Amino acid sequence: MSLPFAEIGRVLGPARVLEDEPTRLAASRDSWPQALGWGPEELSRRRPAAVLKPRDEKGVAAVLAWASAEKRGIMPRGAGSGVLGAAVPPGPESVVLDASSLDEKFELDLRPDRPSVACGAGMLGSNLESRLQAKGWSLMHFPQSMEDSTAGGWIATDSFGQLSTRYGGIADQALWVKAALPDGSFRAEEAAPHIGAEGTLGVLTEVCLAIRPAARSRSFHAFRFRKLREALDFCRTSMDQPVPPSVLRLYCPVDSFFNGLRRGRGTGGSSSLLETAQSAALRRLGLLYALSPLIGRHWICVAIYEDEPGFAGGAPAPAPRGSGLGDGPAMRWWEKRYHLDREKLERAFLRGCFADTVDFWAPWEGLAGLHAGVLAALRPHAFAFAHLSHFDRSGACLYVTLAGTGADSHLRAWQAAMDACVRAGGRVNHHHGVGLAKLPWLKWAKTEEWLSRWQAEKKRRDPGNMFNAGKLCR
Ligand SMILES: Cc1cc2nc3c(=O)[nH]c(=O)nc-3n(C[C@H](O)[C@H](O)[C@H](O)COP(=O)(O)OP(=O)(O)OC[C@H]3O[C@@H](n4cnc5c(N)ncnc54)[C@H](O)[C@@H]3O)c2cc1C
Repeated sequence: MSLPFAEIGRVLGPARVLEDEPTRLAASRDSWPQALGWGPEELSRRRPAAVLKPRDEKGVAAVLAWASAEKRGIMPRGAGSGVLGAAVPPGPESVVLDASSLDEKFELDLRPDRPSVACGAGMLGSNLESRLQAKGWSLMHFPQSMEDSTAGGWIATDSFGQLSTRYGGIADQALWVKAALPDGSFRAEEAAPHIGAEGTLGVLTEVCLAIRPAARSRSFHAFRFRKLREALDFCRTSMDQPVPPSVLRLYCPVDSFFNGLRRGRGTGGSSSLLETAQSAALRRLGLLYALSPLIGRHWICVAIYEDEPGFAGGAPAPAPRGSGLGDGPAMRWWEKRYHLDREKLERAFLRGCFADTVDFWAPWEGLAGLHAGVLAALRPHAFAFAHLSHFDRSGACLYVTLAGTGADSHLRAWQAAMDACVRAGGRVNHHHGVGLAKLPWLKWAKTEEWLSRWQAEKKRRDPGNMFNAGKLCR
């Protein structure tokens, strides 16, 4: 162990002070697609001095006291599934505090008016959910990254799960957190200041979330529509029912195809020949756009209801021009809801291609305009398609997937999409946070009120800027 880390190594134990090159390189980025394209130079510029992995609160306190004395920046890290660079370390002198070992606590509080679970902030979502389900309970918070994200990461990024139309996002579920401050002291407090704070206000060590009885039954429905506006009317009617669907997602024709919602398998193939063909196709954007109507012209809406015995297939009638597709597409979506072939994605970057996703938000009346504006802006730079999800009574998330070739096109596509969102009057994020990727658009990501509250908290809790410096401020 090198000299600077000898002292903290004695407290944590040598196995919990990781200075080897592969570990530091792995900690130099999260799952931000732009960082997947980084070469060795960029990676080593971002590489932290070490990764410290405390096992418990005593270890966290020791790391923070040591870092205060050494004037080291600390970047808390969960599972590294964030897609915007929020967990990219601020610089080579900083240290990553890997919270993934803070995963032992699991305490149920089953008081009838407010059942909850208190758990270690480093616990993976899938572990937490399976422990709850074994006792008949559920988080009802299912991000696609369920198996690769932690409870602390959810709070820090203001996460939303796939069932948010009925149960809301993590902000609606979080009851309290335990957070460590720069001097190594702890506070059990309301979760609000930490929601979306991206690890800038302290290290979360425990999280308390509201839970519900696990769903006993689900009914699956799908509908198709020729026009986005007709489909949106249908979604709005669905959201106005006394019990909204738990899942409500509206896919454009191309996204329906890639998600296997149409008859047949969608893409899914992974042979190297097919991947090479896909890369070649991405170099011919004009041709791809010209051919894409052949895939189909319908928007497909999937709706899943839970525990509604009286419902019996009676989702709101699709608007006059829509038609029902039975339960097949929604069941296929449910089966594949966590699927992402990460290795395939990384291979695409190695072949000089990129694939990325961007989340936006707009009120109901702005959704069609936001979709049209963002997709048109992306056309010169990437092949793009979209779906709408996370509906609530005020609006919804527009989720755009973009793919193309070349790091420059990737950056231009990102810039064009963000600027188009601003022009359309949308918000440039919904559930992925801000990170480094959206920092230039911070004032269109967070409200003024949120930012001034965050600034006051930052000044009060972390005046020396120890935690995740350079995030959420410009
Ligand atoms: C394939 C895929 C699908 C995804 N689907 C969804 C989805 O459906 N919904 C959704 O909301 N997100 C989704 N995400 C994004 C990501 O999973 C979430 O942002 C998640 O909440 C990040 O959790 P994490 O533990 O991986 O945090 P990390 O990526 O490690 O960190 C994210 C931020 O949280 C901070 N942080 C982490 N742990 C702590 C802690 N203990 N204390 C203080 N700060 C901390 C970090 O400093 C950083 O700023 C997806 C990502 C991928 C790759």
